[in-house]
Amino acid sequence: MTVPEPLPGWLCGAQRVCALTGAGISTDSGIPDYRGPQGVWTRDPDAEKLVTLSWYLADPEIRRRSWLMRRDLQEAAVRPNAGHAALVGLERQGRLRALLTQNIDGLHQAAGSAPGIVLELHGTVHAVDCTDCGERTRMDDALARVAAGEPDPACRVCGGVLKSATVYFGQALDAGVLDAAVDAAADCDVFLAVGTSLAVHPAAGLVDVAVAHGARVVVVNAEPTPYDGLADLVVRTPISQALPSLLAPA
Ligand SMILES: [Zn+2]
Repeated sequence: MTVPEPLPGWLCGAQRVCALTGAGISTDSGIPDYRGPQGVWTRDPDAEKLVTLSWYLADPEIRRRSWLMRRDLQEAAVRPNAGHAALVGLERQGRLRALLTQNIDGLHQAAGSAPGIVLELHGTVHAVDCTDCGERTRMDDALARVAAGEPDPACRVCGGVLKSATVYFGQALDAGVLDAAVDAAADCDVFLAVGTSLAVHPAAGLVDVAVAHGARVVVVNAEPTPYDGLADLVVRTPISQALPSLLAPA
C-alpha cells in the first residue's frame, strides 16, 4: 500500500493520465475534509444546511452564516502543497489528459495547473452566481460587501439571492463540465483517483467509465474506497508524499 519501487511500466509509461482529486489532496494545505471521519459535516450535521440549496434559498440566517463561512475560508489564505505541484509536473511532462476535481478551493490553478486542463466538478469558491438571473461575479467583491455591512448581499442586476459558484446539495452538476469529464475518463490510459472516497456519484462513476475503456486505475487515499478491488494499484501513503514519487518523470 506504499508507492512501489520501481514504478510499474504501465504507470511511468502512461501518456494520457486522467486525475480525479478530492478533499484529501487539500487537507495537507489545511483545508478541512468535510465528509471524512473527522469531517466538519460529520461532526456538525447542521453545518451542511449552509450548502444545501433549499435551506439556503429559504432562510436569510443560513445565508448570513454561509457568507461568514466563505469569509473565514478566504482569510485562511491556504497554499497548494507538493501533491498539487506533482500534478503540475505531470502536465509539464505532457502526460496529463485532464485534471478533474471535486474540490472548490482553486488550489490546482494556484499551484500552476493550466485553467483549461482543470475541470471543477463541484464549481469554485472564487466566484458567485445569482440564483435568479445567473449573473456571475467575483467572490472577493461579494465578501467586500459583507465586510461593508451587507450580511446577505443581493444581485446588483436583478436583486436575486447570490451564492458561491459551488454545487450545493440539491443542485445538479454543470452538464458541460460533466460531459468533458466523461470524455476525459473515456480517453485516458491511467485513471488516478487521489484523496477521494469515491463515494459521491457521478464523480465516482468516472472510474467505471475509465475501466470500461481499458484504463488502469490507481487509488491514492488514506481510507479504503469502494474501487480498491478493481484498482491496479492502491496507495495509502499521505498524498503530498505519494504523488511526487508516483508521477516522477520516467
Ligand atoms: Zn441576478
